[in-house]
Amino acid sequence: MILNKVYLESFGCQMNAFDSEVLESLLEEDGFSITQDPSDANAIIVITCSVRENAERRAIGRLNDLSRHKGAILAVCGCMAQRLGEKLFDLVPALEIVAGPDSYSMLPSTISKAIAGEDRKILVETDSSVTYRLRKVTGSSPSRYLSITRGCENYCSYCIVPFVRGSVRSKEAGAVIEDLRILAASGAKEITLLGQNVMAYQSGDCGFVELLYRILEETDIYRIRFLTTHPRDVNEGIFKLMAENGRICPHIHLPFQSGSDRILSAMNRGYTRSEYLDIISMARELRPDIAFTTDIIVGFPGENDADFEETLDIVEKVRFDSAFTFKYSPREGTRAAELDNHVPAEVKKSRLEALNNTIQSIRKEIMTECIGSIEEILLDARVKKGENHFLKGRTPHFRNVLLGTDNGNPGDIFSVVLKELRNFTFIGEEITGR
Ligand code: SF4
Repeated sequence: MILNKVYLESFGCQMNAFDSEVLESLLEEDGFSITQDPSDANAIIVITCSVRENAERRAIGRLNDLSRHKGAILAVCGCMAQRLGEKLFDLVPALEIVAGPDSYSMLPSTISKAIAGEDRKILVETDSSVTYRLRKVTGSSPSRYLSITRGCENYCSYCIVPFVRGSVRSKEAGAVIEDLRILAASGAKEITLLGQNVMAYQSGDCGFVELLYRILEETDIYRIRFLTTHPRDVNEGIFKLMAENGRICPHIHLPFQSGSDRILSAMNRGYTRSEYLDIISMARELRPDIAFTTDIIVGFPGENDADFEETLDIVEKVRFDSAFTFKYSPREGTRAAELDNHVPAEVKKSRLEALNNTIQSIRKEIMTECIGSIEEILLDARVKKGENHFLKGRTPHFRNVLLGTDNGNPGDIFSVVLKELRNFTFIGEEITGR
């Protein structure tokens, strides 16, 4: 029997990376094989992001570019598929299937029918029961993602996610444990639990902190991370657990978006700057070495110089390890897109530059202070830089380390001394390995 081959490309966040694995396993279960070469494929799937206009523009460009593979069925999935729906058929004339994030189970049969000659299909019904179990492990990295919640109901005024990913639904706790055991059996040592807001996890009476306790008791996953958290929902329990148990990594990505109460309120973020700073103090009291990363938007409508100074002030007070920083761009359908008082493009640009400079200089200070310390790293890849080969790993705080040795494999755990810093990556020297 000749297998139909599918080529998959994924843009955007870690949720899309996980969805790409889900799709691969659904397709393989249905008799497809995965190819890394689009010219060899019977179907091409692009998983897209809608968070910023730029991401959509790039995805449409890429889809039109992939249209040159005339023999393959072209399908688009993900948030942009959900948001734009039928309009995508005009933007990408060669497109045959548009499928939103809740319709992936139907995708293999829809592709088979399209290969057999069926007409264009659009699958954008939302279904708030969809959570996607792991059917089969397709990769071999020791560091893996597992989605535990999907959707978001926070309706931050600038964000398209609640409109394209639907309401929050949580994977049943027993199913999370089973999926983790499958990943552990395939060699996974580090899992990042994913959700638009993992703190919103609720399965019966099991909330996110209870879920972590169950994972610690019922699986032997060596390191547990999670992404993303919302300051409104963060509680002491999470930091207590980090303080008590080294398997919960001492790193949290806690987006603050703006340091100004006026702007936070216009963003509908549900916390004030002092509440955000209180969370940081509480966390550091319980686990002093915790590393924070964050997301920040500059140039939200109405943001003035004083508001921006308050954003810089939070950056200086918290001292983030790193941050994803963005210029505000309006997303059609969100409340913020209706606001007046837009910040001029050149002001956004200069604020972003100033913000990035501050973040980078603090980052350098934090990392320089780590030189000479001993860290445990989990090796996750082999990399080549110029003529040199390295093993790459991360510390529990999510800091990158390169080891100039061939004596080890992804999945090994090494104790290393951090010897020097090159472009925000440590060069380490092995002390012990196992
Ligand atoms: S918490 Fe806010 S920013 Fe994050 S996904 Fe939900 S609506 Fe968007």
